[in-house]
Amino acid sequence: EMPIDRRALLKAGGVLAAAAATGTAAASAAAAAAPVKMRRIATEEAWSIPEHLDAMQVLTQSDWNNLDIENLRLPGGIAATGLGANLLDTRRRLAEMDRLGVDMHILSLTSPGVQLFDADKGAALATLANDRMADIVAANPTRFAGLASFAPQDPARAVKEMERAINRLKLNGFIVNSHTDNEYLDEPKYWPILEAAEALDRPIYIHPRCPSDGMAAPFRDYRLRAAIWGFQAETGTHLMRLMLSGIFDRFPKLQVVVGHMGENVPFHLWRSDHWYRRRPHSYPSRLAPSEVMKRNVHITTSGVEHGPALRYALEVLGPDRVLWAIDYPYEEMAPSVAFMNSVQLAEPHRAAVFHQNAERVFHIPAA
Ligand code: MN
Repeated sequence: EMPIDRRALLKAGGVLAAAAATGTAAASAAAAAAPVKMRRIATEEAWSIPEHLDAMQVLTQSDWNNLDIENLRLPGGIAATGLGANLLDTRRRLAEMDRLGVDMHILSLTSPGVQLFDADKGAALATLANDRMADIVAANPTRFAGLASFAPQDPARAVKEMERAINRLKLNGFIVNSHTDNEYLDEPKYWPILEAAEALDRPIYIHPRCPSDGMAAPFRDYRLRAAIWGFQAETGTHLMRLMLSGIFDRFPKLQVVVGHMGENVPFHLWRSDHWYRRRPHSYPSRLAPSEVMKRNVHITTSGVEHGPALRYALEVLGPDRVLWAIDYPYEEMAPSVAFMNSVQLAEPHRAAVFHQNAERVFHIPAA
């Protein structure tokens, strides 16, 4: 474990104090850029391969009105956009990481991963993407780690790919982009996937996608489907289903990770507990939502650069439960790094969020 460089911290603290005292933009910028010596591991960093972007592009040319398909209908196609280039180009990503002092990205196949395809196509793409990801990680083991994809559409095959991804490819965990064909992971058909993650001792990152068909209608207006509201509505609902369903009684060591400061679930946690206790026979889970969260769930900061929200999450969930993420390339690296460099936190909490929790949860060797 890397010792904290106390002089660098004191220096950064001094700049922060100066910024607070003068209130000038220049001083604030200096604080944001203060070179605190600390490992920085970003944990929800999107990536793709040409075959995956091309396969999603084909689906956008159909008349399927699924909300994710509408989200992917970009002028000129996904691969032609700057977004496509940033998903595909590892050298560009590394150069930006070097410029900003980001030590590591934990890569994951961009949403909605392989979950728009039929089972065979999805499983084939997941295998291909996992192989390519493992090559990138092997070539840059201190700069990249990776979350494996699998196709929940075929749970038995998914379990085989999960085992291969950890035991053979040495990847660090798994990603599932919320619902699969409008079903959620608490459904018994998916239990083998949860059982495998628990047995392999690797977390499942439940990443957003647009709301499922059953809740889609009100999200079709005002671009509500995406990051402004729909992603957290979908993914927060998924997390609440998992927490209330009792699957964490069945798989007590299973760990899940959700981004975006917990997809708003932490802010509702007191009320969720309150009604869990007022209706004790309504919920299969033997544990209250807050008990499940503090035992089986981690959250990341992806896309939420807001000091009060981060401090609240640390207070309510505990400092071991919060990890840093950028959400690159959907968010830019520089503001996310500046936020974590300068946000008002106890320094041991900054180290926990910036790297220590990621090292533990994703089995990344301490530098
Ligand atoms: Mn993301």
